[in-house]
Amino acid sequence: MSERVFNFSAGPAVLPEPVLEQAQREMLSLPGVGMSVMEISHRSKTFDAIINSAEAGLRELLNVPANYHILFLQGGASLQFSMVPMNFLPPDASADYILTGSWGKKALKEAAIIGAVNVAATMADGGFTRIPARDEIKLNPHAAFVHLTTNETIEGVEWKSEPEVGDLPLVADASSDILSHPIPVDKYALIYAGAQKNMGPSGVTLVIIREDMLARIPDGAPTMLDYRTHVKGKSLYNTPNTWGIYILDLVCKWVKEKGGLEAMHRENEAKAGLIYDAIDSSSFYRGHADGDSRSIMNVTFRLPSEELEKKFCAEATEKGLDGLKGHRSVGGIRASIYNAFPLSGCKALVAFMKDFERANG
Ligand code: PMP
Repeated sequence: MSERVFNFSAGPAVLPEPVLEQAQREMLSLPGVGMSVMEISHRSKTFDAIINSAEAGLRELLNVPANYHILFLQGGASLQFSMVPMNFLPPDASADYILTGSWGKKALKEAAIIGAVNVAATMADGGFTRIPARDEIKLNPHAAFVHLTTNETIEGVEWKSEPEVGDLPLVADASSDILSHPIPVDKYALIYAGAQKNMGPSGVTLVIIREDMLARIPDGAPTMLDYRTHVKGKSLYNTPNTWGIYILDLVCKWVKEKGGLEAMHRENEAKAGLIYDAIDSSSFYRGHADGDSRSIMNVTFRLPSEELEKKFCAEATEKGLDGLKGHRSVGGIRASIYNAFPLSGCKALVAFMKDFERANG
């Protein structure tokens, strides 16, 4: 197959075509280098330029203040579930978790292995359909940190602004909406995100950490699990995912060319809006998330029966609309429409939804 399909996968996900084309052109030899990026030392001048450019690109796009470090780690967002409490949850303290979906629950589970945790709010009862209201969040004023998931990839629920946490360090898993819209980085003590949705391939995990947090880290953790190791080593303490960082750099350049995060946000709103409008204008489709908590990255909805959902996915795949099956834990349909997913794909999905409803409604 040489034709590309519309790829609605939740991650690893669609990448910008110009990025893939450039990577293809440079696969055998980086210009002027005569070797692939996968064949050079991570301590070479060439790679130094690539990792510095990736960092500078993120710093510019996300407007990261100077007192924050940018790290490229491995182990996925899942390792951050453990690393965050290993570094910032002392034995005599407790950490607050705000649960808006399945990934927040996983983060909580890992933190509870390390130390004491407190669920400051959970939206589990309603099936994770919304972000909590301000008065539903019961913070411990002495919490070591407050953790949230900016976008719940499985349920399709997204924070539209940060909760008020006062001076408590706010930690965010931004794996599935990083780079989709501007964020006030200075409201966070630490942001982490796996690259494989909006930034590049899997195997690179971005960590943005505020300088003053480093002083809280206890001695004695395994070297690789101590953030200070990676700050000191500028993400080169050990061999990083050089290929992943190279692609991430190209993706940042692509986002910048598209007009940066404000332009991305406008486009993402327009793309998601098309699908949500199709859901709202029909009684055949039922959106999962409440209106003001809906994700612009993962649009989740149900059909009248699981049988129809199966048929929907099968027929969509035949028409070149791939990856629409909801996560195995919740079922239903999920259209993941990250930055690199084209508006034309959202239009194609809406047209298919209308046809499918006419034939099966
Ligand atoms: N958090 C969120 C919000 C995610 O969507 C995912 C992956 N889908 C993860 C964490 C886990 O990421 P990883 O596979 O990189 O460990």
